[in-house]
Amino acid sequence: MQRTEKSKHVRYRTVLLFGAPGSGKGTQGKILGSVPGLFHFACGDAFRNLRITDPLGRLFIEYSSKGELVPDEPTIDLWQRNIEGSTLNHSFDPKQDTLVLDGIPRNVQQAKILRDTLDVKAVFHLTCPDMTKMIERLQRRALRENRLDDANLDIIRQRLETYDRETKPVLDFYGPKIVHTIDSSQTPLNVLRNILEILSKLQAKA
Ligand code: ADP
Repeated sequence: MQRTEKSKHVRYRTVLLFGAPGSGKGTQGKILGSVPGLFHFACGDAFRNLRITDPLGRLFIEYSSKGELVPDEPTIDLWQRNIEGSTLNHSFDPKQDTLVLDGIPRNVQQAKILRDTLDVKAVFHLTCPDMTKMIERLQRRALRENRLDDANLDIIRQRLETYDRETKPVLDFYGPKIVHTIDSSQTPLNVLRNILEILSKLQAKA
């Protein structure tokens, strides 16, 4: 894949929000993104912001409606375009800010492609032992956020399977030293508190 000269040499200070669909990544990401010095990027949101007339927008509908991942190359390209765009319009300053990534990398191949670009300091693994609770969250979101992939129980099951098969192995790629497991069945406030405690320790070290 073509990488621009510039992006080859930039290594973004990064933390990852990680967890199954419905584990609360988006909720935490939105809050964290409002903190100065943190820049939040949610890959699913970037896909949903595409127009249906955009070929990548169509590809996204094709895959997400089956509960599958969009192929790696266009996904990484979309990520790169967004990050470079945000750098150019000064909403993200790679020298000062920490990137909070939500939904990317989503399989080991994406993690490998991004290995030289991301300097991953922490992975926040949001776990919810109660599957019914997760499915309920998704179905509530379906109406609130008009998400078709959350509406249908078969698609939800397929996404959870895709998560187990393709996404979970990313945790081993980064290794236990930087993976922090957080119980996401706690209140959003307590999940946030857990994340902030780790983030502030990281900042103290930097
Ligand atoms: P959730 O984590 O709640 O399932 P997202 O909004 O993160 O939802 O993603 C919605 C869909 O967008 C995914 O099911 C997948 O089809 C696609 N998608 C998002 N991020 C990626 C990615 N990094 N690689 C491939 N597909 C992705």
